[in-house]
Amino acid sequence: MDTEKARLLELRKKIDELSYQYYTLDKPTVTDYEYDMMYRELENIEKAHPDWVTPDSPTQRVGSKISGGFEKYTHDRPMLSLGDVFSDDELREFDQRVRDDLGGEDLEYVVELKIDGLAVNLIYEQGQFIRGVTRGDGVVGEDITNNVRTIRTIPLHIASDSPHIEIRGEVYMPITSFEALNQQRRDDELEPFANPRNAAAGSLRQLDPRITAQRKLAFFAYALGGNSGITIESQEELLQDLAQFHFQVNPEYRKFTNIEDVIAFIHSWDDRRDSLPYATDGMVVKVNSFAQQARLGNTVKIPRWAIAYKFPPEQARTKVLDISVSLGRTGVLTPAADLEPVHLAGTTVKRATLHNEDYIKEKDIRIGDTVVIQKAGEIIPEVVRSLPELRDGSEKVFSMPTTCPVCGSPVVRRDGEAAWRCTN
Ligand code: NAD
Repeated sequence: MDTEKARLLELRKKIDELSYQYYTLDKPTVTDYEYDMMYRELENIEKAHPDWVTPDSPTQRVGSKISGGFEKYTHDRPMLSLGDVFSDDELREFDQRVRDDLGGEDLEYVVELKIDGLAVNLIYEQGQFIRGVTRGDGVVGEDITNNVRTIRTIPLHIASDSPHIEIRGEVYMPITSFEALNQQRRDDELEPFANPRNAAAGSLRQLDPRITAQRKLAFFAYALGGNSGITIESQEELLQDLAQFHFQVNPEYRKFTNIEDVIAFIHSWDDRRDSLPYATDGMVVKVNSFAQQARLGNTVKIPRWAIAYKFPPEQARTKVLDISVSLGRTGVLTPAADLEPVHLAGTTVKRATLHNEDYIKEKDIRIGDTVVIQKAGEIIPEVVRSLPELRDGSEKVFSMPTTCPVCGSPVVRRDGEAAWRCTN
């Protein structure tokens, strides 16, 4: 088999595994940025070889598989994902495509913060809240009505006599609630959530609504689903109407007529976004006019009138003071770097994960090295690379302990595994 095809198969397998960890277990093992880069590599291979695309490729799917436990609900109108870009030039390309497709017509963009939570669909009949559903795989979601009812910022009735109206938006966990929850989990010797998004997803998909109620979730409304009886002409008008209905609407949105102003606005968040009381992983640029949105249309997965700009992972440079090994609940030994404290993405970082022995060897990370660490989407920071050019000869090569740091039993590494385990 040619190497490109082999890489494609490898990427699909890896992405499926990572999606399962992220969506179903709410426990990602890599940063969103790493995931996005793998996803993009897969997309590029498939673009070059359209005949290799199969319906089971992760690129053909929105979101998660349905995990069971809740009743299924088919959305009136699919809940799409968003295309994503990582640079200013890609934003300019998006703008050019939109303008070409609209035949050079004038247009406006509404730019919103991309809240790092999970999308839900709220259904109101004659103004009464009757159902709340997760995005699920975009077509079919899970009915989480009883859990949604516990979220204080979601109105249970709205001033509308429409027979059916669907309000969509993001359920998220404010940073203070997230930190308090993780502290509680550590005290109870439970594994903390990797980021507020996973904490929100895990809390919303509880079978017992009393647990959801304790988790202090919140909601920002930003879209309409299938509906009747309302005439709204633009995203800006929609956001104003949603606020009239007493939904929380994120106040940071702005309207622009050209892409350079959009780009400047996005970068104005580069060092302000850490001070927000909730997590964001980017900004969403939307064509304002609903008539123009309709002309631009959607692909099966994403709207062609909107794009998500993803913030780059935040990095900092510091020194590895030591490498220590901790024992997880499953007996796996995980090495971590004890760092000279450094400020990164709004917090002081003193430790970063090194994943496993192979990672340390491959990246040649030594005790005493100056390293680059990275935090993306709130996951535990990781050491990305060492800077060997800054070595003075005093650095030490690390080796894994031969006995368990907790109980002293011998440790083993099984064939085909990267992890060392305690035999006890
Ligand atoms: P996405 O998060 O890139 O974008 C779409 C979503 O953005 C929408 O569904 C909606 O929930 C949200 N959103 C937030 N604010 C919005 C706003 N103002 N307007 C419109 N939408 C808004 O795409 P996705 O399909 O939800 O999931 C992919 C994401 O999950 C990526 O960020 C990816 O990195 C992450 N992921 C990570 C892993 C991992 O292992 N780390 C695995 C799978 C997926």
